[in-house]
Amino acid sequence: MINPDYKYSGTCGIQHEEPLLFEHAHDAPEALNMPGVDGDISPELAAFARKRPTNIPGLSEPETVRHFVRLSQWNHGIETGFYPLGSCTMKYNPRVNEQVVRLPGLAHIHPDQPEESVQGALELLYELQQWLGEISGLPHVTLQPAAGAHGELVGLMMIRACLDARGESNRRKVLVPDSAHGTNPASAALCGMQTVELKSGADGRIDLDELKAHLDGDTAALMMTNPNTAGAFESDIREICQLVHDAGGLVYGDGANLNALVGVARPGDMGIDCLHINVHKTFSTPHGGGGPGGGPVVVNETLAPYLPVPRIEKQGSQYKLIHHDQQSIGPVLGSAGQIGVMLRANAYISAFGREHLHKIAEDAVLNANYVLHRLKERYHVPFEGLCKHECLLTDEYQNSHGVKTLDIAKRLIDLGFHPMTVYFPLIVHGAMLIEPTETESRETLDAFCDAMLEIADQCEAGETEMLHDAPVKPFRRRLDETQAARKPVLVWQE
Ligand SMILES: *Cc1c(COP(=O)(O)O)cnc(C)c1O
Repeated sequence: MINPDYKYSGTCGIQHEEPLLFEHAHDAPEALNMPGVDGDISPELAAFARKRPTNIPGLSEPETVRHFVRLSQWNHGIETGFYPLGSCTMKYNPRVNEQVVRLPGLAHIHPDQPEESVQGALELLYELQQWLGEISGLPHVTLQPAAGAHGELVGLMMIRACLDARGESNRRKVLVPDSAHGTNPASAALCGMQTVELKSGADGRIDLDELKAHLDGDTAALMMTNPNTAGAFESDIREICQLVHDAGGLVYGDGANLNALVGVARPGDMGIDCLHINVHKTFSTPHGGGGPGGGPVVVNETLAPYLPVPRIEKQGSQYKLIHHDQQSIGPVLGSAGQIGVMLRANAYISAFGREHLHKIAEDAVLNANYVLHRLKERYHVPFEGLCKHECLLTDEYQNSHGVKTLDIAKRLIDLGFHPMTVYFPLIVHGAMLIEPTETESRETLDAFCDAMLEIADQCEAGETEMLHDAPVKPFRRRLDETQAARKPVLVWQE
């Protein structure tokens, strides 16, 4: 029996409350089509006989399917609406890429199969390596790392190995700007490095004097993001790289923001030695649901000897996995990489092709500046000028009405949009980071900007109480997110 308190919208068949599967279950003991045991259990198996019921809820297949599909409908997803999370590049993922990865010859292979039997898959992976090398200007590539953060760790391990080979094992200091993504200092610490925070300049960019003051004989690397997490291009990038190199260090690039540069500018040409690429941000792949990602690392000649194994190489017309290499940092994943994610990336890049790749970055940057332009009179813009692929606003104008970033973000839910990234980067107070990506139309951007302007109007009209209560339309209202994160209840108890 479904609890009569569970509400239906009455218009679209969406059930707005859902019991757990176990609460749902009717009295039938189990929903398993297993034949009973005839006669005695053989003595060999008796020890394994189940003493308690399996605790599988007694539901039919349609009941089970409907339960999970109903849950899935509560989520705002990239296929139900605009998803302007900054620093995440949540873009629509073309369906054709999903078809590519489901081809049986790709979906049903195993990492331990003989190389001769997976030449096609290896060719596609090799081709992706070539693409990523060309796009980044850093020609030596590993597809192994399983996410951006994993790529950071792998890149730093290579930098450490390189410094050790130079006899400079004292170099363990990694400089990280205070605008960096939290994974940067975390990866450095995990790699046994000491992180030192660089205070950003008044324009949100790296301050050259601050950088110079921290560079010394113990510096292993500068870890930087370009464009940075405030959506601003580090215009001193060449000088920054030169300063680090002159001090004997290497430059690690966080490539999560590559969407702003693809086909237009190359981190390798800017002087960066090592970069991870979040293929699940820049080149397709459903992202944000906790599924697999990919963080290929691309490097220059200096770091090439330290790339992980196995490596994919082309020898004549054959593709080979190279399992041993003396200076390699060794394997960092059980296989050559998350193949499904890499194949989607190859499909996304190939769909644009060499001639049109620049459209990705140009449209992403245009869209972000369009949003910035429409909102800048009504929302405070902390750093002047054009932005790259994401625009940064704050709640400063709304604060005087008692309204904060969180209220604005929650109100967007009522108006049909997923909130933007809030309170990141940390270098501005009340940050709202909006990244539209290249896949959104002007109509979608206008609808979002209209919603943001409506919120600004409501704020000025004194609708503070409603904004504090937002979202007011969904069945679930403002949740205690801290409690949910700190004390999650993950186990069903009878
Ligand atoms: C997303 C992101 C990361 C981490 O990448 P994951 O793939 O989520 O591990 C690092 N740096 C920046 C700037 C990011 O946006």
